[in-house]
Amino acid sequence: MVNKKTSKEKPKNLKITKKPCFETWNKTTINKAFDFAEGYKDFLNKVKTEKEAVIEGEKMAKAKGFKDLRKAKSIKAGDKIYFIQRNKSIIFAKIGKKKIHEGFNLIMSHIDSPRLDLKVTPLYEEENIAFLKTHYYGGIKKYQWPTVPLALHGTIYLENGNDVEVKIGEDEKDPVFMITDLLPHLDRAGGPGTEIKPREVQGEDLNLIFGSMPIEDDKNTKEAKEKVKEAILSYMYEKYGVKEADLSSADLSAVPRERARDLGIDRSLISAYGHDDKICAHSSLEALFNSNSLEKTQICAWVDREEIGSEGTTGAQSIFFENFISELTEKNEGRTLGIGGVYKAFSRSRALSADVTAGLDPDYKDVHDPRNAHRLGYGLAFEKYTGSGGKTSSSEASGEFLRDLRVALNKDKVVYQMGAGLGKVDQGGGGTIAKFMANRDIEIVDAGTPVFNMHAPLEIASKADLYSAYLGYKAFYTNIKNYSER
Ligand code: MN
Ligand code: MN
Repeated sequence: MVNKKTSKEKPKNLKITKKPCFETWNKTTINKAFDFAEGYKDFLNKVKTEKEAVIEGEKMAKAKGFKDLRKAKSIKAGDKIYFIQRNKSIIFAKIGKKKIHEGFNLIMSHIDSPRLDLKVTPLYEEENIAFLKTHYYGGIKKYQWPTVPLALHGTIYLENGNDVEVKIGEDEKDPVFMITDLLPHLDRAGGPGTEIKPREVQGEDLNLIFGSMPIEDDKNTKEAKEKVKEAILSYMYEKYGVKEADLSSADLSAVPRERARDLGIDRSLISAYGHDDKICAHSSLEALFNSNSLEKTQICAWVDREEIGSEGTTGAQSIFFENFISELTEKNEGRTLGIGGVYKAFSRSRALSADVTAGLDPDYKDVHDPRNAHRLGYGLAFEKYTGSGGKTSSSEASGEFLRDLRVALNKDKVVYQMGAGLGKVDQGGGGTIAKFMANRDIEIVDAGTPVFNMHAPLEIASKADLYSAYLGYKAFYTNIKNYSER
Protein backbone atom coordinates (compact mmCIF):
# COMPACT_ATOMS: atom_id res chain seq x y z
CA MET A 1 0.00 0.00 0.00
CA VAL A 2 1.43 3.30 -1.05
CA ASN A 3 -1.10 5.75 0.32
CA LYS A 4 -1.05 4.52 3.89
CA LYS A 5 -3.29 6.54 6.14
CA THR A 6 -1.15 8.48 8.60
CA SER A 7 -3.61 10.88 10.27
CA LYS A 8 -4.54 10.43 13.94
CA GLU A 9 -8.28 10.44 13.04
CA LYS A 10 -10.22 7.96 15.21
CA PRO A 11 -11.24 4.97 13.08
CA LYS A 12 -14.95 4.23 12.71
CA ASN A 13 -17.01 1.79 10.64
CA LEU A 14 -14.05 -0.54 10.38
CA LYS A 15 -16.39 -3.50 10.23
CA ILE A 16 -19.06 -4.07 7.61
CA THR A 17 -22.40 -3.53 9.30
CA LYS A 18 -25.24 -4.82 7.15
CA LYS A 19 -28.83 -3.99 7.90
CA PRO A 20 -31.88 -4.93 5.83
CA CYS A 21 -33.71 -2.14 3.99
CA PHE A 22 -36.73 -2.37 6.25
CA GLU A 23 -34.49 -1.58 9.27
CA THR A 24 -32.67 1.20 7.40
CA TRP A 25 -35.58 3.04 5.80
CA ASN A 26 -38.08 5.33 7.49
CA LYS A 27 -41.83 4.85 7.14
CA THR A 28 -42.06 7.21 4.14
CA THR A 29 -39.48 5.26 2.14
CA ILE A 30 -41.10 1.93 3.06
CA ASN A 31 -44.44 3.28 1.82
CA LYS A 32 -42.76 4.38 -1.42
CA ALA A 33 -41.32 0.89 -1.84
CA PHE A 34 -44.76 -0.67 -1.38
CA ASP A 35 -46.30 1.79 -3.89
CA PHE A 36 -43.56 1.02 -6.39
CA ALA A 37 -44.34 -2.69 -6.05
CA GLU A 38 -47.94 -2.07 -7.17
CA GLY A 39 -46.75 -0.74 -10.53
CA TYR A 40 -44.38 -3.67 -10.88
CA LYS A 41 -47.13 -6.23 -10.18
CA ASP A 42 -49.39 -4.58 -12.78
CA PHE A 43 -46.53 -4.83 -15.27
CA LEU A 44 -45.98 -8.53 -14.51
CA ASN A 45 -49.66 -9.28 -14.99
CA LYS A 46 -49.57 -7.76 -18.48
CA VAL A 47 -46.23 -9.23 -19.50
CA LYS A 48 -45.28 -12.89 -19.49
CA THR A 49 -43.33 -13.28 -22.75
CA GLU A 50 -40.58 -11.15 -24.27
CA LYS A 51 -42.89 -10.04 -27.09
CA GLU A 52 -45.48 -8.85 -24.56
CA ALA A 53 -42.69 -7.04 -22.68
CA VAL A 54 -41.64 -5.23 -25.86
CA ILE A 55 -45.23 -4.14 -26.57
CA GLU A 56 -45.72 -2.92 -22.99
CA GLY A 57 -42.28 -1.26 -22.85
CA GLU A 58 -43.02 0.64 -26.06
CA LYS A 59 -46.37 1.76 -24.64
CA MET A 60 -44.72 2.95 -21.38
CA ALA A 61 -41.97 4.77 -23.27
CA LYS A 62 -44.36 6.46 -25.73
CA ALA A 63 -46.37 7.77 -22.78
CA LYS A 64 -43.14 9.43 -21.55
CA GLY A 65 -42.43 11.04 -24.94
CA PHE A 66 -39.99 8.46 -26.37
CA LYS A 67 -39.89 8.24 -30.19
CA ASP A 68 -38.99 5.37 -32.53
CA LEU A 69 -35.31 5.80 -33.49
CA ARG A 70 -35.85 4.31 -36.94
CA LYS A 71 -38.46 6.97 -37.76
CA ALA A 72 -36.33 9.87 -36.48
CA LYS A 73 -34.32 11.89 -39.05
CA SER A 74 -31.91 13.27 -36.47
CA ILE A 75 -31.34 13.00 -32.74
CA LYS A 76 -30.28 15.81 -30.41
CA ALA A 77 -29.49 16.19 -26.73
CA GLY A 78 -32.61 15.82 -24.62
CA ASP A 79 -34.35 13.48 -27.08
CA LYS A 80 -35.80 10.22 -25.86
CA ILE A 81 -35.83 7.27 -28.24
CA TYR A 82 -36.51 3.54 -28.41
CA PHE A 83 -35.39 0.80 -30.81
CA ILE A 84 -37.18 -2.52 -31.31
CA GLN A 85 -35.30 -5.63 -32.46
CA ARG A 86 -37.57 -8.15 -34.23
CA ASN A 87 -40.38 -7.69 -31.67
CA LYS A 88 -38.35 -9.55 -29.02
CA SER A 89 -35.87 -7.01 -27.64
CA ILE A 90 -36.16 -3.26 -27.05
CA ILE A 91 -33.68 -0.53 -26.18
CA PHE A 92 -34.60 2.82 -24.63
CA ALA A 93 -32.30 5.84 -24.50
CA LYS A 94 -32.16 9.42 -23.26
CA ILE A 95 -29.72 11.39 -25.39
CA GLY A 96 -27.12 13.39 -23.45
CA LYS A 97 -25.24 16.59 -24.29
CA LYS A 98 -22.02 14.69 -25.00
CA LYS A 99 -21.61 12.72 -28.20
CA ILE A 100 -22.37 9.03 -28.02
CA HIS A 101 -18.83 8.00 -28.98
CA GLU A 102 -17.63 9.69 -25.80
CA GLY A 103 -19.35 6.88 -23.92
CA PHE A 104 -22.76 6.08 -22.45
CA ASN A 105 -24.19 4.48 -19.32
CA LEU A 106 -26.06 1.26 -19.99
CA ILE A 107 -28.30 -0.96 -17.90
CA MET A 108 -29.13 -4.21 -19.68
CA SER A 109 -31.64 -6.74 -18.39
CA HIS A 110 -33.49 -9.62 -20.04
CA ILE A 111 -37.20 -10.11 -20.67
CA ASP A 112 -37.34 -13.82 -21.47
CA SER A 113 -38.10 -16.27 -18.66
CA PRO A 114 -38.01 -20.08 -18.41
CA ARG A 115 -41.16 -21.67 -19.84
CA LEU A 116 -42.43 -24.51 -22.01
CA ASP A 117 -42.41 -23.79 -25.75
CA LEU A 118 -44.68 -25.82 -28.03
CA LYS A 119 -42.89 -28.09 -30.49
CA VAL A 120 -43.50 -27.49 -34.21
CA THR A 121 -45.89 -30.46 -34.45
CA PRO A 122 -47.31 -30.35 -30.97
CA LEU A 123 -50.84 -31.78 -31.20
CA TYR A 124 -51.49 -35.50 -30.68
CA GLU A 125 -54.10 -37.78 -29.19
CA GLU A 126 -53.67 -40.74 -26.89
CA GLU A 127 -56.33 -42.62 -24.87
CA ASN A 128 -58.95 -40.16 -26.11
CA ILE A 129 -57.10 -37.17 -24.70
CA ALA A 130 -55.43 -34.51 -26.82
CA PHE A 131 -52.05 -33.19 -25.75
CA LEU A 132 -49.54 -30.57 -26.83
CA LYS A 133 -45.88 -31.55 -26.85
CA THR A 134 -43.46 -28.99 -25.43
CA HIS A 135 -39.74 -28.36 -25.31
CA TYR A 136 -38.66 -26.49 -22.21
CA TYR A 137 -36.89 -23.15 -22.67
CA GLY A 138 -34.16 -22.26 -20.17
CA GLY A 139 -32.90 -24.14 -17.14
CA ILE A 140 -35.86 -25.64 -15.32
CA LYS A 141 -36.30 -28.36 -12.72
CA LYS A 142 -38.79 -30.42 -14.71
CA TYR A 143 -40.67 -31.86 -11.72
CA GLN A 144 -41.86 -28.36 -10.78
CA TRP A 145 -44.04 -27.92 -13.88
CA PRO A 146 -46.66 -30.73 -13.73
CA THR A 147 -49.97 -29.90 -11.93
CA VAL A 148 -49.43 -26.14 -12.35
CA PRO A 149 -52.18 -24.25 -14.25
CA LEU A 150 -50.59 -22.96 -17.45
CA ALA A 151 -51.67 -20.32 -19.97
CA LEU A 152 -50.84 -20.34 -23.66
CA HIS A 153 -49.21 -17.20 -25.07
CA GLY A 154 -47.82 -16.37 -28.49
CA THR A 155 -48.42 -15.81 -32.17
CA ILE A 156 -49.33 -18.11 -35.06
CA TYR A 157 -48.16 -16.82 -38.43
CA LEU A 158 -50.52 -17.87 -41.26
CA GLU A 159 -49.55 -18.23 -44.91
CA ASN A 160 -52.15 -15.63 -45.87
CA GLY A 161 -50.13 -13.02 -43.98
CA ASN A 162 -52.36 -12.89 -40.92
CA ASP A 163 -50.87 -13.14 -37.45
CA VAL A 164 -53.06 -14.84 -34.89
CA GLU A 165 -52.33 -13.56 -31.39
CA VAL A 166 -52.97 -16.21 -28.75
CA LYS A 167 -53.47 -15.59 -25.03
CA ILE A 168 -55.57 -18.28 -23.38
CA GLY A 169 -55.73 -18.82 -19.65
CA GLU A 170 -55.16 -15.34 -18.24
CA ASP A 171 -58.81 -14.27 -18.04
CA GLU A 172 -60.67 -15.63 -15.00
CA LYS A 173 -63.16 -17.32 -17.38
CA ASP A 174 -60.52 -18.83 -19.70
CA PRO A 175 -59.63 -22.50 -19.54
CA VAL A 176 -56.10 -23.42 -18.43
CA PHE A 177 -53.76 -26.24 -19.48
CA MET A 178 -51.89 -28.72 -17.32
CA ILE A 179 -49.16 -31.35 -17.29
CA THR A 180 -50.06 -34.44 -15.31
CA ASP A 181 -48.15 -36.15 -12.51
CA LEU A 182 -48.35 -39.66 -11.09
CA LEU A 183 -50.45 -40.21 -7.95
CA PRO A 184 -48.34 -41.01 -4.85
CA HIS A 185 -50.13 -44.34 -4.40
CA LEU A 186 -48.46 -45.67 -7.55
CA ASP A 187 -45.17 -43.84 -7.23
CA ARG A 188 -43.54 -46.32 -4.83
CA ALA A 189 -40.36 -47.91 -6.03
CA GLY A 190 -40.66 -51.05 -3.89
CA GLY A 191 -44.39 -51.82 -4.20
CA PRO A 192 -47.24 -51.41 -1.66
CA GLY A 193 -46.34 -49.96 1.73
CA THR A 194 -42.88 -48.86 0.65
CA GLU A 195 -41.66 -45.30 0.61
CA ILE A 196 -42.91 -42.89 -2.06
CA LYS A 197 -40.07 -42.45 -4.50
CA PRO A 198 -41.08 -40.04 -7.26
CA ARG A 199 -40.03 -40.97 -10.77
CA GLU A 200 -37.89 -38.42 -12.50
CA VAL A 201 -39.91 -36.22 -14.86
CA GLN A 202 -38.37 -36.42 -18.33
CA GLY A 203 -38.43 -33.69 -20.98
CA GLU A 204 -40.76 -35.76 -23.17
CA ASP A 205 -43.20 -36.05 -20.24
CA LEU A 206 -43.92 -32.32 -20.32
CA ASN A 207 -47.09 -32.64 -22.40
CA LEU A 208 -50.04 -30.33 -21.88
CA ILE A 209 -53.59 -31.64 -21.71
CA PHE A 210 -55.40 -29.73 -24.44
CA GLY A 211 -58.86 -31.38 -24.66
CA SER A 212 -60.91 -34.55 -24.40
CA MET A 213 -64.13 -34.14 -26.43
CA PRO A 214 -64.48 -36.18 -29.65
CA ILE A 215 -66.15 -34.90 -32.82
CA GLU A 216 -69.74 -35.97 -33.21
CA ASP A 217 -70.09 -39.15 -35.23
CA ASP A 218 -71.65 -38.77 -38.66
CA LYS A 219 -71.37 -40.70 -41.91
CA ASN A 220 -67.97 -39.25 -42.69
CA THR A 221 -66.39 -39.46 -39.29
CA LYS A 222 -67.77 -42.73 -37.95
CA GLU A 223 -64.56 -44.58 -38.70
CA ALA A 224 -62.37 -41.61 -37.88
CA LYS A 225 -59.41 -42.13 -35.60
CA GLU A 226 -58.23 -39.41 -33.24
CA LYS A 227 -61.70 -37.96 -32.86
CA VAL A 228 -60.59 -35.60 -30.08
CA LYS A 229 -57.76 -34.19 -32.15
CA GLU A 230 -60.21 -33.85 -35.05
CA ALA A 231 -62.64 -31.90 -32.84
CA ILE A 232 -59.89 -29.61 -31.59
CA LEU A 233 -58.67 -28.89 -35.11
CA SER A 234 -62.15 -27.97 -36.31
CA TYR A 235 -62.62 -25.73 -33.25
CA MET A 236 -59.28 -24.01 -33.94
CA TYR A 237 -60.15 -23.52 -37.59
CA GLU A 238 -63.55 -22.01 -36.79
CA LYS A 239 -62.24 -19.75 -34.03
CA TYR A 240 -58.81 -18.72 -35.37
CA GLY A 241 -58.62 -19.93 -38.99
CA VAL A 242 -55.69 -22.12 -37.91
CA LYS A 243 -54.87 -25.53 -39.40
CA GLU A 244 -52.51 -28.11 -37.88
CA ALA A 245 -49.71 -27.17 -40.31
CA ASP A 246 -49.93 -23.52 -39.20
CA LEU A 247 -48.63 -24.53 -35.77
CA SER A 248 -45.25 -25.08 -37.39
CA SER A 249 -44.92 -21.35 -38.09
CA ALA A 250 -45.72 -20.15 -34.59
CA ASP A 251 -44.05 -18.96 -31.41
CA LEU A 252 -46.25 -20.47 -28.71
CA SER A 253 -45.33 -20.90 -25.06
CA ALA A 254 -47.01 -22.30 -21.98
CA VAL A 255 -46.41 -20.07 -18.97
CA PRO A 256 -47.73 -20.19 -15.40
CA ARG A 257 -51.17 -18.69 -15.26
CA GLU A 258 -50.89 -17.34 -11.69
CA ARG A 259 -50.87 -13.59 -11.25
CA ALA A 260 -48.28 -11.61 -9.29
CA ARG A 261 -49.41 -11.49 -5.66
CA ASP A 262 -48.24 -10.17 -2.31
CA LEU A 263 -46.56 -12.88 -0.26
CA GLY A 264 -46.43 -12.98 3.53
CA ILE A 265 -48.87 -11.69 6.14
CA ASP A 266 -47.04 -8.33 6.08
CA ARG A 267 -47.14 -8.25 2.24
CA SER A 268 -43.38 -7.58 2.13
CA LEU A 269 -42.64 -10.08 -0.65
CA ILE A 270 -44.03 -10.83 -4.12
CA SER A 271 -44.83 -14.23 -5.59
CA ALA A 272 -44.82 -14.17 -9.39
CA TYR A 273 -43.82 -15.87 -12.59
CA GLY A 274 -40.83 -14.24 -14.29
CA HIS A 275 -39.16 -12.08 -11.62
CA ASP A 276 -36.10 -13.36 -13.51
CA ASP A 277 -35.64 -10.93 -15.06
CA LYS A 278 -38.62 -8.63 -15.34
CA ILE A 279 -37.91 -7.29 -11.86
CA CYS A 280 -34.70 -5.71 -13.20
CA ALA A 281 -36.27 -4.78 -16.56
CA HIS A 282 -39.11 -2.87 -14.91
CA SER A 283 -37.03 -1.15 -12.22
CA SER A 284 -34.28 -0.11 -14.66
CA LEU A 285 -36.77 1.44 -17.09
CA GLU A 286 -38.42 3.35 -14.25
CA ALA A 287 -34.92 4.49 -13.22
CA LEU A 288 -34.25 5.74 -16.76
CA PHE A 289 -37.59 7.57 -16.83
CA ASN A 290 -36.84 9.29 -13.53
CA SER A 291 -33.11 10.03 -13.81
CA ASN A 292 -32.24 13.66 -14.43
CA SER A 293 -28.75 13.15 -15.75
CA LEU A 294 -28.33 15.19 -18.93
CA GLU A 295 -24.59 14.98 -19.63
CA LYS A 296 -24.11 11.68 -21.38
CA THR A 297 -26.50 9.28 -23.06
CA GLN A 298 -28.34 6.87 -20.77
CA ILE A 299 -29.45 3.55 -22.19
CA CYS A 300 -31.79 0.89 -20.83
CA ALA A 301 -31.87 -2.34 -22.85
CA TRP A 302 -34.27 -5.25 -22.49
CA VAL A 303 -32.99 -8.27 -24.35
CA ASP A 304 -34.32 -11.69 -25.26
CA ARG A 305 -32.72 -15.17 -25.15
CA GLU A 306 -30.65 -14.77 -21.96
CA GLU A 307 -32.06 -17.99 -20.53
CA ILE A 308 -30.63 -20.07 -23.36
CA GLY A 309 -27.22 -18.34 -23.54
CA SER A 310 -28.04 -15.02 -25.26
CA GLU A 311 -27.83 -16.70 -28.67
CA GLY A 312 -29.73 -15.62 -31.79
CA THR A 313 -30.67 -12.36 -33.47
CA THR A 314 -32.45 -10.99 -30.41
CA GLY A 315 -29.93 -12.04 -27.74
CA ALA A 316 -27.11 -10.02 -26.16
CA GLN A 317 -24.51 -11.73 -28.36
CA SER A 318 -26.17 -10.39 -31.52
CA ILE A 319 -24.64 -7.44 -33.34
CA PHE A 320 -28.02 -5.73 -33.22
CA PHE A 321 -26.54 -3.77 -30.31
CA GLU A 322 -23.78 -2.48 -32.63
CA ASN A 323 -26.44 -1.67 -35.23
CA PHE A 324 -28.37 0.30 -32.65
CA ILE A 325 -25.34 2.32 -31.46
CA SER A 326 -24.34 2.94 -35.06
CA GLU A 327 -27.77 4.30 -36.01
CA LEU A 328 -27.82 6.35 -32.82
CA THR A 329 -24.40 7.95 -33.45
CA GLU A 330 -25.18 8.65 -37.10
CA LYS A 331 -28.46 10.36 -36.29
CA ASN A 332 -26.87 12.16 -33.35
CA GLU A 333 -23.91 13.56 -35.28
CA GLY A 334 -25.25 13.69 -38.81
CA ARG A 335 -22.25 11.75 -40.10
CA THR A 336 -21.11 8.16 -40.40
CA LEU A 337 -18.57 7.14 -37.77
CA GLY A 338 -18.38 3.53 -38.87
CA ILE A 339 -17.68 0.57 -36.65
CA GLY A 340 -14.66 2.36 -35.16
CA GLY A 341 -16.99 4.99 -33.72
CA VAL A 342 -19.19 2.27 -32.27
CA TYR A 343 -16.23 0.49 -30.66
CA LYS A 344 -14.93 3.79 -29.30
CA ALA A 345 -18.30 4.37 -27.68
CA PHE A 346 -18.19 0.85 -26.19
CA SER A 347 -14.71 1.21 -24.74
CA ARG A 348 -15.64 4.46 -23.02
CA SER A 349 -18.89 3.17 -21.54
CA ARG A 350 -19.91 1.57 -18.29
CA ALA A 351 -22.77 -0.81 -17.72
CA LEU A 352 -24.80 -2.82 -15.27
CA SER A 353 -25.96 -6.30 -16.15
CA ALA A 354 -29.26 -6.08 -14.31
CA ASP A 355 -30.19 -9.63 -13.44
CA VAL A 356 -31.49 -11.55 -10.46
CA THR A 357 -29.25 -13.64 -8.24
CA ALA A 358 -29.77 -16.43 -5.72
CA GLY A 359 -30.98 -15.31 -2.30
CA LEU A 360 -29.66 -17.19 0.72
CA ASP A 361 -32.56 -19.56 1.51
CA PRO A 362 -32.32 -20.81 5.12
CA ASP A 363 -33.62 -24.23 4.03
CA TYR A 364 -30.78 -24.65 1.54
CA LYS A 365 -27.90 -22.81 3.19
CA ASP A 366 -25.31 -25.45 2.34
CA VAL A 367 -24.93 -24.37 -1.31
CA HIS A 368 -23.79 -20.87 -0.34
CA ASP A 369 -20.83 -19.24 1.31
CA PRO A 370 -22.96 -17.23 3.75
CA ARG A 371 -20.23 -14.58 4.07
CA ASN A 372 -20.44 -13.74 0.38
CA ALA A 373 -24.03 -14.64 -0.43
CA HIS A 374 -26.91 -12.27 -1.10
CA ARG A 375 -29.87 -12.00 1.23
CA LEU A 376 -33.49 -11.12 0.54
CA GLY A 377 -34.32 -7.64 1.80
CA TYR A 378 -30.72 -6.40 1.96
CA GLY A 379 -30.94 -4.26 -1.15
CA LEU A 380 -29.49 -4.20 -4.66
CA ALA A 381 -27.12 -7.15 -5.01
CA PHE A 382 -23.81 -6.68 -6.82
CA GLU A 383 -22.05 -9.75 -8.08
CA LYS A 384 -18.35 -9.22 -8.85
CA TYR A 385 -18.46 -12.38 -10.96
CA THR A 386 -21.04 -15.16 -11.37
CA GLY A 387 -18.78 -18.11 -12.25
CA SER A 388 -18.22 -20.65 -9.53
CA GLY A 389 -15.42 -23.16 -10.13
CA GLY A 390 -12.27 -21.17 -10.89
CA LYS A 391 -14.39 -18.16 -11.89
CA THR A 392 -14.78 -19.68 -15.36
CA SER A 393 -17.34 -18.61 -17.98
CA SER A 394 -18.23 -15.26 -16.48
CA SER A 395 -16.76 -11.81 -16.69
CA GLU A 396 -15.36 -10.26 -13.53
CA ALA A 397 -15.78 -6.60 -12.71
CA SER A 398 -12.66 -4.70 -11.76
CA GLY A 399 -12.20 -3.51 -8.22
CA GLU A 400 -11.80 -0.03 -9.62
CA PHE A 401 -15.27 -0.10 -11.17
CA LEU A 402 -16.76 -1.42 -7.93
CA ARG A 403 -15.08 1.41 -6.02
CA ASP A 404 -16.75 3.94 -8.33
CA LEU A 405 -20.08 2.17 -7.89
CA ARG A 406 -19.80 2.22 -4.10
CA VAL A 407 -19.19 5.97 -4.26
CA ALA A 408 -22.09 6.48 -6.70
CA LEU A 409 -24.58 4.51 -4.59
CA ASN A 410 -23.44 5.84 -1.22
CA LYS A 411 -23.94 9.36 -2.53
CA ASP A 412 -27.69 8.62 -2.79
CA LYS A 413 -27.73 6.42 0.36
CA VAL A 414 -28.84 3.37 -1.63
CA VAL A 415 -28.96 0.10 0.34
CA TYR A 416 -26.89 -2.49 -1.53
CA GLN A 417 -24.98 -5.70 -0.88
CA MET A 418 -21.74 -6.97 -2.36
CA GLY A 419 -21.32 -10.62 -3.21
CA ALA A 420 -19.63 -12.91 -5.64
CA GLY A 421 -20.07 -16.23 -7.35
CA LEU A 422 -23.51 -17.80 -7.73
CA GLY A 423 -23.26 -20.28 -4.84
CA LYS A 424 -20.15 -21.41 -3.00
CA VAL A 425 -16.87 -22.22 -4.73
CA ASP A 426 -17.21 -25.21 -7.08
CA GLN A 427 -20.96 -25.48 -6.38
CA GLY A 428 -22.56 -24.31 -9.61
CA GLY A 429 -22.36 -20.80 -10.95
CA GLY A 430 -24.35 -19.10 -13.66
CA GLY A 431 -23.95 -16.85 -16.66
CA THR A 432 -25.63 -13.57 -17.51
CA ILE A 433 -25.35 -11.10 -20.38
CA ALA A 434 -22.38 -9.46 -18.60
CA LYS A 435 -19.67 -11.39 -20.43
CA PHE A 436 -21.11 -10.56 -23.85
CA MET A 437 -21.00 -6.84 -23.11
CA ALA A 438 -17.54 -7.21 -21.52
CA ASN A 439 -16.35 -8.88 -24.75
CA ARG A 440 -17.32 -5.64 -26.50
CA ASP A 441 -15.00 -3.78 -24.09
CA ILE A 442 -17.86 -2.30 -22.11
CA GLU A 443 -17.01 -2.25 -18.41
CA ILE A 444 -19.83 -4.12 -16.67
CA VAL A 445 -20.91 -5.75 -13.43
CA ASP A 446 -23.97 -7.80 -12.43
CA ALA A 447 -26.41 -5.96 -10.18
CA GLY A 448 -29.93 -7.16 -9.45
CA THR A 449 -32.27 -8.50 -6.84
CA PRO A 450 -31.87 -11.77 -4.93
CA VAL A 451 -34.77 -14.21 -5.40
CA PHE A 452 -35.93 -17.53 -3.99
CA ASN A 453 -37.18 -20.38 -6.25
CA MET A 454 -35.33 -19.01 -9.28
CA HIS A 455 -36.66 -20.59 -12.52
CA ALA A 456 -39.60 -22.25 -10.74
CA PRO A 457 -43.10 -21.51 -12.07
CA LEU A 458 -43.43 -18.97 -9.24
CA GLU A 459 -40.45 -17.07 -7.85
CA ILE A 460 -40.15 -14.92 -4.72
CA ALA A 461 -38.66 -11.44 -4.47
CA SER A 462 -38.68 -8.76 -1.77
CA LYS A 463 -40.35 -5.39 -2.27
CA ALA A 464 -37.34 -3.90 -0.46
CA ASP A 465 -34.91 -5.24 -3.07
CA LEU A 466 -37.17 -4.17 -5.92
CA TYR A 467 -37.18 -0.59 -4.67
CA SER A 468 -33.44 -0.69 -3.87
CA ALA A 469 -32.81 -1.84 -7.41
CA TYR A 470 -34.78 1.11 -8.72
CA LEU A 471 -32.87 3.55 -6.46
CA GLY A 472 -29.53 1.91 -7.28
CA TYR A 473 -30.11 2.00 -11.03
CA LYS A 474 -31.12 5.65 -10.75
CA ALA A 475 -27.93 6.40 -8.78
CA PHE A 476 -25.92 4.61 -11.49
CA TYR A 477 -27.45 6.75 -14.24
CA THR A 478 -27.06 9.93 -12.22
CA ASN A 479 -23.71 9.55 -10.44
CA ILE A 480 -21.45 7.10 -12.23
CA LYS A 481 -18.76 8.55 -14.42
CA ASN A 482 -18.18 6.75 -17.68
CA TYR A 483 -14.73 5.61 -18.65
CA SER A 484 -13.76 8.78 -20.50
CA GLU A 485 -14.87 11.06 -17.65
CA ARG A 486 -12.87 9.39 -14.88
MN1 MN B 1 -31.77 -13.81 -15.34
MN1 MN C 1 -32.57 -17.03 -15.41
